[in-house]
Amino acid sequence: MKIEKIFKKLGITGVKTKKSGALEISSPIDGNIIAYVKKDSKASAENKIKKSEKAFLSWRDVPAPRRGELIRIFGEELRKNKEPLARLVTIECGKILEEGRGEVQEMIDICDFAVGLSRQLYGLTIASERPEHTMQENWLPLGTVGVISAFNFPVAVWAWNFVLAVICGDSVIWKPSEKTPLCALACVNIFKKAAKAFGKSAPDGLCEVVVGGPDIGEKIVNDSRIPLISATGSCHMGNIVGPKVASRFGRSLLELGGNNAIIVSNKADIDLAVQSILFGAVGTAGQRCTSTRRVFVHNDIYEEVFEKLKESYQKIVKTKIGNPLSDGTLVGPLIDKRAFDDMQSSLKDATEHGGVVFFGQRVIIGRNENAYYAQPALVKIKKQTKIVCQETFAPILYVMPYHTLDEAIKYNNEVMQGLSSAIFTTDVREAEYFKKYSDCGIANVNIGTSGAEIGGAFGGEKETGGGRESGSDSWKNYMRRQTSTTYFGAEKPALAQGIKFDT
Ligand code: NAD
Repeated sequence: MKIEKIFKKLGITGVKTKKSGALEISSPIDGNIIAYVKKDSKASAENKIKKSEKAFLSWRDVPAPRRGELIRIFGEELRKNKEPLARLVTIECGKILEEGRGEVQEMIDICDFAVGLSRQLYGLTIASERPEHTMQENWLPLGTVGVISAFNFPVAVWAWNFVLAVICGDSVIWKPSEKTPLCALACVNIFKKAAKAFGKSAPDGLCEVVVGGPDIGEKIVNDSRIPLISATGSCHMGNIVGPKVASRFGRSLLELGGNNAIIVSNKADIDLAVQSILFGAVGTAGQRCTSTRRVFVHNDIYEEVFEKLKESYQKIVKTKIGNPLSDGTLVGPLIDKRAFDDMQSSLKDATEHGGVVFFGQRVIIGRNENAYYAQPALVKIKKQTKIVCQETFAPILYVMPYHTLDEAIKYNNEVMQGLSSAIFTTDVREAEYFKKYSDCGIANVNIGTSGAEIGGAFGGEKETGGGRESGSDSWKNYMRRQTSTTYFGAEKPALAQGIKFDT
């Protein structure tokens, strides 16, 4: 399917002609410019914030199950547009088509989840200590939610936030990555179709997009009309955004970087472990927040596991790197030159600190000199050096030995990020011990670090930011909690704690 056809199917118009001051969007597949997208100015962003605010004021009064109906229709529209949207995801961010489809499926899944949830935004009835009193905890719509998203999940992460916010009665203003605004334009168009089918009570402005870089992001971050900022991206970004939102007493939901580890015990099913490590480290060309970056292997099986990994990497490097739209490709391009340079600089550092690097070189696909394809790199290294403790957003896997489980868990927890972790073992005692002491938001057993389902709460601790999105009770982030006490007696009401205040 040609890009023009994809644009047409997704209602994206007016992006083929060059405009001054527009973002030039190139595809990482071949490095060629595919579109020019107009950036928002501070003034146009201001108008959109006003529209969002207005939309919230009417949307909050629509009953939650009706709000769910809008998301049900949106889910149907996504099903109809799954293929072109998946292709656009692949073209704009470079992940393989199979993963592009998976990302759109994740949007559909969260819509289904939100539809059911729209009838379950439960509060509590609390026993009052006073006679003839009732106490309740109610959940009420919050306001306009600002969503800032990263390039590597250009549609699913927004959808996690957007559909929950909408069923909770909020409006959303979205600042997508400046590397993937076309995906955002496509999502808005798909949502507009759903809103039209839903009817008049879906106000204009429920779903706004502002296009631009950090400067336009900061406009919404600093705006106290936006009570919640949900920001996904690097720890560096979170370190700027978090304090700014806090300084205006806003709420932030931060989903930041990860440096995820797998422990392979001497009681593991080794083939199972190798297969899962491979998907975690090499999938999405190592550009997932949950990508596996560190592996700790029990000393007794270290050489065996390393050799098996090397064999698997060899196969990938020989035949599986290529155009992410082609069948059979497992590793697509890195997002840009900077990502490739960062990868090379980390590999150099690892070598200087005693690591032995296998693979990791640049591969030119066809004549695409401006695209950055890299062999996933495997690094044999004894200890966790400074560079191992940093997140390099590229396919680098550091493989290190350990002796005791306590030691392995200590290494797992030693980094500043706390997103995802896993153990491979057939010993239930080891598995439970690991779950208890891993300091990450995700702790898996005999499953890799990446590829979470939408039903669980997703997010991590420490510099990953502490936020939780998607399933479980993450919806509470998008509402405000109110405690309400009612006296239904006819006499003078009693005071709490038995306080007497008689006149
Ligand atoms: P990035 O931090 O460069 O950018 C992310 C978004 O933040 C972009 O939209 C960007 O414009 C915006 N931004 C940057 N500085 C800002 C500022 N000062 N104010 C407001 N907005 C600002 O990240 P990236 O390169 O797009 O994505 C890769 C990073 O994202 C990795 O670190 C990865 O681990 C992380 N990530 C985390 C999760 C998660 O759920 N934990 C998911 C995906 C990606």
